[in-house]
Amino acid sequence: MTDSPTIEIIENADLQPFNTMAVPGRAEYFCRVDNQQQLLQALDYANHRRLPVTALGGGSNLLLAADIAGLVVHLNLTGIHASEFAPGHFYVSFAAGENWHQAVEHCLQQGWYGLENLSLIPGNMGAAPIQNIGAYGVELCDLFVSLEAIEISSGELVVMDKQACQFGYRDSIFKQAGKGRYLITQVTLALSSEPQVNIQYPVLAEALRGKDPSPEQVSAAVCRIRREKLPDPQNIPNAGSFFKNPVIEAELLDRLLGSNTSMPHFQQPDNRAKVPAAWLIDQCGFRGLRSGNVGVHQHQALVLVNFGGTGAEILHLAQQIQDAVQERFSIALEIEPQIYGLPE
Ligand code: FAD
Ligand code: NAP
Repeated sequence: MTDSPTIEIIENADLQPFNTMAVPGRAEYFCRVDNQQQLLQALDYANHRRLPVTALGGGSNLLLAADIAGLVVHLNLTGIHASEFAPGHFYVSFAAGENWHQAVEHCLQQGWYGLENLSLIPGNMGAAPIQNIGAYGVELCDLFVSLEAIEISSGELVVMDKQACQFGYRDSIFKQAGKGRYLITQVTLALSSEPQVNIQYPVLAEALRGKDPSPEQVSAAVCRIRREKLPDPQNIPNAGSFFKNPVIEAELLDRLLGSNTSMPHFQQPDNRAKVPAAWLIDQCGFRGLRSGNVGVHQHQALVLVNFGGTGAEILHLAQQIQDAVQERFSIALEIEPQIYGLPE
């Protein structure tokens, strides 16, 4: 193990630069860890003082509703290692602090394919399993092999395979029974030098119509589409989709289609249907709306944007949207980012 200097614990640390919503908020204690030894030091510090521990990556999927009590650990572990387990097939392990999009680009450069549809998703590798990140018809679980994590209460190293992670649509054990219990340190994916291009997702198929695209071209198309539609948090602070796309029962779908014939919907294998939350929010008149210092993005109603407001203001707007969608469509929208600082 390499020599690691003692971690620096900062009291009452400013978290505004560490969340892409750019809302104000503070951590009671904060530290950055660059390797496993420092991470164990941080856990020791917290456990001795009985402080709760919160993991922080790129801060692109959380909302600070208030300050965070205890120790916030900013995971910056880096490193990428690959091993060829069959000709042209690789297990690639990424440390938790690797930036997701840079990792996708690195893999493309190496000729390790599979991640191209997930290009340009903000955040770090360690957070990718938390909500089983997905976009344009591919989810992390399609490539996932295993992860390593440290259990916060015991400091023990655990290895979890795909089954143990209980992945679902923008969901995993880390948002359910395992919430707040682990610090993920490494993620291993299975990638291949044989391209298996997946352009079934309608907007991608349209962008690449008539082409037999390479993985690099798929990645470029995904980046182009995303840049056209989604606000860059550097310019307009946001946390991506603020609500999950609801999956509704066939009975409710039939009823809604009776009075909303143009409602887009995607049949699921279990006879339920996914309805784009953006469409529901748009129908309720929220797209482009600004309310004080927060608002709903003009081009994508699923994205709440911050013009200098607080987490509480964002949550207030979110509640208004949820109430309107419930009232008009009888659908309960579920918030996607992790909310911090709410009373339990
Ligand atoms: P953070 O926001 O830092 O953390 C999110 C949660 O994970 C927190 O609960 C945190 O405690 C926990 N966590 C973070 N790191 C660890 C760790 N190492 N161990 C244990 N827990 C950890 N998501 C998609 O799925 N698909 C998209 O297409 C997509 N597009 C987006 C576009 C924009 C413009 C934005 C702003 C966000 C988008 N997101 C998308 C959401 C977000 O980028 C992902 O969820 C991403 O994986 C979050 O990574 P992060 O490092 O920023 O996590
Ligand atoms: P979009 O293409 O306008 O589509 C709207 C929604 O309809 C999507 O969310 C998608 O669900 C669903 N959909 C579209 N085609 C589908 C199909 N053939 N089968 C099943 N479901 C289908 O979506 P968008 O908002 O521009 O986002 C594009 C992609 O990036 C989506 O996959 C989205 O999830 C992802 N994204 C996620 C975030 C985030 O923060 N989570 C932010 C931006 C973009 P799915 O979500 O299941 O794809």
